[in-house]
Amino acid sequence: MNLLNDDFISTTDGKVSLKTILTSDQNYQLQYYFDEVQLAMLQLLSSLTTVVLQPTKKELKGYLNQGLSIDHYDQCLAKIEVSWFDADCFMQSKPLESAKFPEAPITKLLSGVECGTSPYAIGLFSEMDKAEVICPDCIHGLNYNLHMNIKGECFGPTGATGIRGGGAISTLIAGQSLKQTLLSNTIAIDFFQDKAQLNDNADNSPMWITPQGSGVYQAQKIGLIRGLFALAYHIDFSIQDEPCVCDVCGCESAQSVTTFNREKYTGHYGSTKNGRDAQAGWWLHPYTPITVKEEGIFAVCARDQHWQSWQELSSYIVGKSTDKATVEPAYIVKQYQEMKNPPQTNLLVGGNIADQGSVIGRVYDLYSMPSSLSRQTTKITQVIDVGLNQKERLSKALNKMFSKKDVGYDKNFVGGIKENAMQRFTSNAQQIIQGVLLDVECKEAIELRESAAQALAYEAKRIFSGIQDKYQHDLPLFKSLVKGELALRKK
Ligand SMILES: [Zn+2]
Repeated sequence: MNLLNDDFISTTDGKVSLKTILTSDQNYQLQYYFDEVQLAMLQLLSSLTTVVLQPTKKELKGYLNQGLSIDHYDQCLAKIEVSWFDADCFMQSKPLESAKFPEAPITKLLSGVECGTSPYAIGLFSEMDKAEVICPDCIHGLNYNLHMNIKGECFGPTGATGIRGGGAISTLIAGQSLKQTLLSNTIAIDFFQDKAQLNDNADNSPMWITPQGSGVYQAQKIGLIRGLFALAYHIDFSIQDEPCVCDVCGCESAQSVTTFNREKYTGHYGSTKNGRDAQAGWWLHPYTPITVKEEGIFAVCARDQHWQSWQELSSYIVGKSTDKATVEPAYIVKQYQEMKNPPQTNLLVGGNIADQGSVIGRVYDLYSMPSSLSRQTTKITQVIDVGLNQKERLSKALNKMFSKKDVGYDKNFVGGIKENAMQRFTSNAQQIIQGVLLDVECKEAIELRESAAQALAYEAKRIFSGIQDKYQHDLPLFKSLVKGELALRKK
């Protein structure tokens, strides 16, 4: 099986090849049970499309508008090392003979962040036995997902960190069809070279062909193809001749995989503290927004379990600066903004919420974007600002409860009430904002802002009234809430 030629991608119309998706007009839908695998597959397939096409910005625009033919696809393949993408070697470098190469159940690959003894180590689904066996085709999505999410600190001395750091957020352009999505997330090599500032002699062969050694992995020396599939582990999968129904894609297969072996790389990427201290530099991963601080460059990650992506949406599209840090949109968003008149699309924000050795949640949110992402970004940022402003007001309204003089309750007690209310608001605002942005193309900025303001003010009031009702017999608390309510009413 070869990933550039053969049918390994699970869709609602059966398994198809990358070539079929890119060259036909049928709109295939990916079929994977876990949305994190879906997210990983979108990135893997867009990266493979980059390998095949290696387009300039101008060529990419042509593909987006006119598509590409089977002949053209084959001509592109003739220019590259297709055998690097054979299933038995793709993203699988070999460890030294003497290495321990320990075995683990395949389930560990499903969380995206492999973990040790933490209670959340299998936290993405309720029962471990829900995903025990996979088909050989699904190895690649899971292996890719591991390498793009792995964070060594999660499990101490046995772990290595991948090129993107642990639990990084991904922002992807979501097109009207799977083909459009893959092409929209394909990287234009001329534009990337410009932005990434790699060395002229950067190595562009994959790491399973020429593995990294130990030491520091300098970002400028890692070419685009090498970086897109960068490894942190030697890995191997044992394929058995046992039939199975795959727990990841649902397809029947004559062969099955239940375990894998891995051995960490001993060097460091710039995504780690060791790497940063040694000036390795951040490798510009095209799908990850970054935070630039005095101490270095970091991948943007989801903060905690209660974090919702809408709060950061502006920074993913236009960036945001405070006195401590600057958040910059992912390369792919910048590339998209550079294209003249690209088709209208959505933005997909996704990733794992990781905490130490745990995966405690997932993000997978789709936002409608205006057709001109370069000129109409204020439509979005204004809606987000309304949300952040309303959140701030709710916070102020609740702060009166902390008054020592008028209320005098224990800080933890009132703190708990407030935290709960803020989490509910942030979480409900997620749906409201996604809903308001559905009209981003057909409504004017002022209309959008108004409908967001109305819906969010109503939501804040509803949560606030709920607390007032609950504590109406607690006079000091009730009085403080009546005082606080002003903050919600002010225009
Ligand atoms: Zn499968």
